[in-house]
Amino acid sequence: MAGRPAADALPVVILLGPPGAGKGTQARMLQEDYGLVQLSTGDLLRGAVAKGTPAGRAAEAVMQAGGLVPDAIVLDVLRERMAEPDAARGIVLDGFPRTEAQAEALDALVAARGQRITAAVSLEVEDAAMVERIAGRYSCAQCGEGYHDRFKQPKEAGGCDKCGGHEFKRRPDDTAETVAARLAAYRAETAPLIAYYAARGLLARVDAMGAIAEIRAALARALSKAGA
Ligand code: AMP
Repeated sequence: MAGRPAADALPVVILLGPPGAGKGTQARMLQEDYGLVQLSTGDLLRGAVAKGTPAGRAAEAVMQAGGLVPDAIVLDVLRERMAEPDAARGIVLDGFPRTEAQAEALDALVAARGQRITAAVSLEVEDAAMVERIAGRYSCAQCGEGYHDRFKQPKEAGGCDKCGGHEFKRRPDDTAETVAARLAAYRAETAPLIAYYAARGLLARVDAMGAIAEIRAALARALSKAGA
């Protein structure tokens, strides 16, 4: 059809990186900049926990302890979300895949949709920065816009820049002990995916230590190189 990109041209972008690397923040920006749909398995699982679904009940304690939720549960919630009409557009995956089994399942899911992975971007940060970023972060309870005590306060105190909401929340798993467990899970299970995507010629590395706007620009350069 004229003017409409072929299905396989729709970007499927993966954001890899440890907790606090800025995956959620940058995924939201890719949503704004490229019209991609942000799919965050962390958000989907938190939604399932809040609703008390069977998946949520199975995931809650693992998430609170900073471990990885079993692949089968994560894949179920992701598949369900990917079946919604808006996800037929290009997508940015934030927090998925986190294990090699998830990466293989994603390859199959994407192929079944006649798409292919555009790029897997590794957001690279130092350990000390991660802890500081996580310790100060919070988000709008209404629209999910992210803020930080030091790096990004709302322009008007107490009001969300995006939706004007006045309620903010912090994640229950953003505690020092849980962050240590989440980092250990990242190193053991997720960091090997950097080699997985490098071997397929899909990896882009982005220095994620700078300001949010600089990282956004570096990410745009990486995606344009990858043909997004
Ligand atoms: P996030 O919001 O991406 O930091 O995820 C929060 C928590 O949800 C993680 O610490 C895990 O317990 C769980 N989680 C999110 N995505 C995944 C995934 N792809 N595989 C396993 N567990 C996940």
